[in-house]
Amino acid sequence: MPNSYDPDQLIRPEILALSAYHVPPATGMVKLDAMENPYPLPVELRTEIAQLSVDAPVNRYPDASAASLKNTLRNALDIPDEMDILLGNGSDEIIQIIAMAAAKPGAKLMSVEPAFVMFRMIATFANLQYVGVPLKDDFSLDLDAMLSAIEQHKPAVIFLAYPNNPTGNLFDAQAVLKIVQASPGVVVVDEAYHAFADASLMDQLTQYPNLLLMRTLSKLGLAGLRLGLLAGRSDWVSQLEKIRLPYNVGIMTQLIAEAVLQHTDVLLAQADVIKTERAKLYRLLAGLDSVTAFPSDANFILFRIDRASEVFAALKQRGILIKNLDGTHPLLANCLRVTVGTPEENHQFYETLHTILSETV
Ligand code: PMP
Repeated sequence: MPNSYDPDQLIRPEILALSAYHVPPATGMVKLDAMENPYPLPVELRTEIAQLSVDAPVNRYPDASAASLKNTLRNALDIPDEMDILLGNGSDEIIQIIAMAAAKPGAKLMSVEPAFVMFRMIATFANLQYVGVPLKDDFSLDLDAMLSAIEQHKPAVIFLAYPNNPTGNLFDAQAVLKIVQASPGVVVVDEAYHAFADASLMDQLTQYPNLLLMRTLSKLGLAGLRLGLLAGRSDWVSQLEKIRLPYNVGIMTQLIAEAVLQHTDVLLAQADVIKTERAKLYRLLAGLDSVTAFPSDANFILFRIDRASEVFAALKQRGILIKNLDGTHPLLANCLRVTVGTPEENHQFYETLHTILSETV
């Protein structure tokens, strides 16, 4: 039977056309590519976690509703009492749940460009049409373009990251709220980088019936746990709950997240150090002749540099892994993105960059 098992015959053409999300190997590298918090948890907390894992009933399925963890999250993140919470295996999974729920034939998912690439990819996974509205040259929201694209496409869902990845800036909050008001569908504000920004739309949730707010513990120092959450009205969350797989948040994630969230002071102190380091790294980068550094409210810095792809490769060759965005969008021509690491990692990155630049002139 020729070709009877040929995936090309079975898989949807738009999936065949995709490239998989690439996670480069990083063993032994200074890893500044994925917006992780570079600091481990304090040893006392790790000892507490070790005990939790000794006692965890891993022969049982986890609490499907994760009621206790949700309660802890509500207090730790100041989620308004009137709002319900949906948990995901990372916020990636929440994006997927929302997209699947909205995927009526012909439905559209909208975001800005450049934005977090998973918005576009997940739209494709879920069979939604993706509409990306370009940001302005300074990476601010093009409100007029957004409003006319909303009018034209009537998207079922809009995702806006606040601060935005990969550009690092916060959009104008009033412009975001105008988009919420103008949208015939739901607007998800993705606050993955909230710990590094001094702004949030959490307190607007009660004002807008079509606003949902997403957070993650990943950038706060718990990327390995995979825990994201969505706060929103129960009429949205109860529908999305139907799509969430019953045991999507494992028992170790529930136990560890709950224990660590009793010590948010530790995580927030680490975030503060990262913010201070971000300011230092920004000044260093901005001081280089061939570099334009963009101000950031997140735990990474986007910068433009001549011959970016060559610089990226030279850094990688010397053991420093950052993210190359050159060629991914016209606004990101010659742009690289570096995650803020420990002072030592940032120093190593900067010194290596400096050396590479002095060699190539
Ligand atoms: N949203 C944004 C804007 C991101 O940059 C990321 C991670 N790169 C995520 C969501 C996903 O985070 P996670 O799945 O780890 O919660």
